[in-house]
Amino acid sequence: MTSLQYNRQLPNTLALPCAADTLCVSGIEQARDAVRLARALGRSLLPLGEGSNVVLPGALQGIALYVTDKSVHEVGRDNEFVTLRVGAGHAWHAFVCTTVAEGYVGLENLALIPGTVGAAPIQNIGAYGREVAAFIDAVHGVDLHSGDSRSLNAAQCEFSYRHSVFKGALRDRFLICAVDFRLSKHAALDTHYPALATQLDGQAPLSAQQVLDAVVALRRQRLPDPELEPNVGSFFKNPVVDATWLRNVDGGTRMPQYPQPDGRIKLSAAWLIDHCGLKGLREGGACIASRHALVITNRGGATQRDVLTLAERVVHAVQQRYGLTLEMEPRVYGDA
Ligand SMILES: Cc1cc2nc3c(=O)[nH]c(=O)nc-3n(C[C@H](O)[C@H](O)[C@H](O)COP(=O)(O)OP(=O)(O)OC[C@H]3O[C@@H](n4cnc5c(N)ncnc54)[C@H](O)[C@@H]3O)c2cc1C
Repeated sequence: MTSLQYNRQLPNTLALPCAADTLCVSGIEQARDAVRLARALGRSLLPLGEGSNVVLPGALQGIALYVTDKSVHEVGRDNEFVTLRVGAGHAWHAFVCTTVAEGYVGLENLALIPGTVGAAPIQNIGAYGREVAAFIDAVHGVDLHSGDSRSLNAAQCEFSYRHSVFKGALRDRFLICAVDFRLSKHAALDTHYPALATQLDGQAPLSAQQVLDAVVALRRQRLPDPELEPNVGSFFKNPVVDATWLRNVDGGTRMPQYPQPDGRIKLSAAWLIDHCGLKGLREGGACIASRHALVITNRGGATQRDVLTLAERVVHAVQQRYGLTLEMEPRVYGDA
């Protein structure tokens, strides 16, 4: 475990200034040491990765805790599947590229999502019709209250759309140190998502690498690069409504609709925001991206308060026009 580093600026893709004390651990044993240290100091531990899904305050009270392990080990194999155990500190996109290069099928739709492997289960990252939950076999880590190590199987992770037990009962309570992925070389490709199908010109792709390349190209066209325009990706979750709601709301039949397995319909939060005319709306240094209505960017000097006030204005406008309350996707810390 590193020694406690005081008053460090925390990396985050919205480029908000945030100072906190930090600790880095390599894995489960050191994480247990960190729990003992935090208990002795009477402080809480807050797990973080690359900061690509957080809205940070000027100063964070707890100790920001990072996992540095980037290892990848094969821990199981049968005729069909291989199970890979991946350290929480591994970069997500690099892991996706490695699996696809080795011939495994499944994670290609999730290419170019920023962040770490350890954060992927937290909101069950998803894109272009796939969610990571379908490929997670187990999650290993440490209970930050008791200091006990614990493994959860996929059912215990309680995955659903942009949600898991780590955002529910285990919020701020569990440090993920490693994730087991179960992958096959013979799984089917999934290119049903309309934008992806269009990008592939309606052709059936031959390989996971072709799908990965198409996803990377699409994301580069559609999403602002956080290096150039700091952001946290989608700021709001897509709302899910009943079919009767769609028939009753003004303009409902014209909205893009994604039918869900339970019969309900997922809408596009970006479409709703765009149709409220909010692209380009500003609050201090925060702005609704002109390229993508679901993205809030830091145009320079934005504070957490700017970002949250802008988000409140979006929620209010969509509520007024459509009667739907958008829910924020990134995790907001501390007081603005
Ligand atoms: C340009 C852009 C595009 C994006 N596109 C998508 C997308 O298509 N789909 C999607 O689902 N998301 C997307 N995101 C959001 C983000 O990339 C993911 O949520 C990612 O998994 C966050 O990883 P991170 O390491 O940056 O986590 P952080 O932002 O640092 O943390 C996010 C949450 O995870 C928790 N956490 C992090 N590491 C651990 C750990 N080891 N143990 C326990 N808890 C932990 C934190 O406490 C926090 O609550 C996008 C973000 C950006 C900037």
